[in-house]
Amino acid sequence: MRIAFIGLGNMGGGMAANLAKAGHRVDAFDLADAARERARVAGCVPHTSIATAVAEAEVVVTMLPDGKIVRAVYERDVLEWVPAGALLIDCSTIDVASARAVADLAAAKAHPMVDAPVSGGIAAANAGTLTFMVGGDDAAFAAAEPILAAMGKAVIHAGGAGAGQAAKICNNMLLGASMVATAEAFAMAEKLGLDLQTFYDISSKASGQCWSMTSYCPVPGVGPVTPADNAYQGGFATALMLKDLRLAMAAAADTGANVPMGKRAEELYAAFAEAGNAALDFSAIIGTLRE
Ligand code: NAD
Repeated sequence: MRIAFIGLGNMGGGMAANLAKAGHRVDAFDLADAARERARVAGCVPHTSIATAVAEAEVVVTMLPDGKIVRAVYERDVLEWVPAGALLIDCSTIDVASARAVADLAAAKAHPMVDAPVSGGIAAANAGTLTFMVGGDDAAFAAAEPILAAMGKAVIHAGGAGAGQAAKICNNMLLGASMVATAEAFAMAEKLGLDLQTFYDISSKASGQCWSMTSYCPVPGVGPVTPADNAYQGGFATALMLKDLRLAMAAAADTGANVPMGKRAEELYAAFAEAGNAALDFSAIIGTLRE
């Protein structure tokens, strides 16, 4: 198919490359020259404007930093220039309200659209092993599924417009809180004189077990290899976890949801980021608890 891809950053660069590898023609646009050049090397056709990138697109995929940018890109450019009936897929992580507003604009012009945020970081984007959580009607989901499958290992229909973003922020709020809880359990085990590998061996087989412990252990040398074993470089940056927690807090405020653990995780990650740790993997927060 002819696919326009907008936003070729850490995530979008690898995703666009995987669409080209799957045999699609990928017309690629990013504001950054280096991102466009990387896309060209990966087999995409680089463009210097959204207008030319989407001009003959059957599908448009966006992977952009935030809701404000996503709204502007669709309102000002994509919906202005894209052919009638083209499928629109936004993979960015943004607030539910913006996702629904853009879906309404697309619907007004009779474009099928899905919000399809991802779970999995840069390595999964490059490897084509992302998990997509998709919001949109059944027809739009059916059209988007094979495109998303070329970039991921799982494509899950979460519900109507905005439901993908809703699933993503609820999941990441749970992840933020569970990482803090895992980190504080290890930090207290240490203060109580427990060997941390021994605590892992016990808790990973007991009721405290969770993904933050057994797949992403924040303690170096314990459990599988994780960013903790690489001085907390790579992985999922604290800045991105904080972004997702802030989206979750905005959604909680909008809906009146009671989220005391999510709120505390947001406060702890905000303080951790402000102390100069925004680029570190989010599991590095254990350092503040082991002090
Ligand atoms: P990034 O900053 O590396 O990439 C964003 C790209 O968008 C940049 O190349 C930038 O030049 C481009 N851009 C910004 N405004 C633009 C515009 N108006 N037109 C065209 N291009 C524009 O960010 P990323 O890490 O690739 O993240 C993208 C999205 O994926 C975010 O919403 C993020 O929350 C989400 N996400 C990231 C990760 C991760 O691990 N990095 C994981 C899951 C989800």
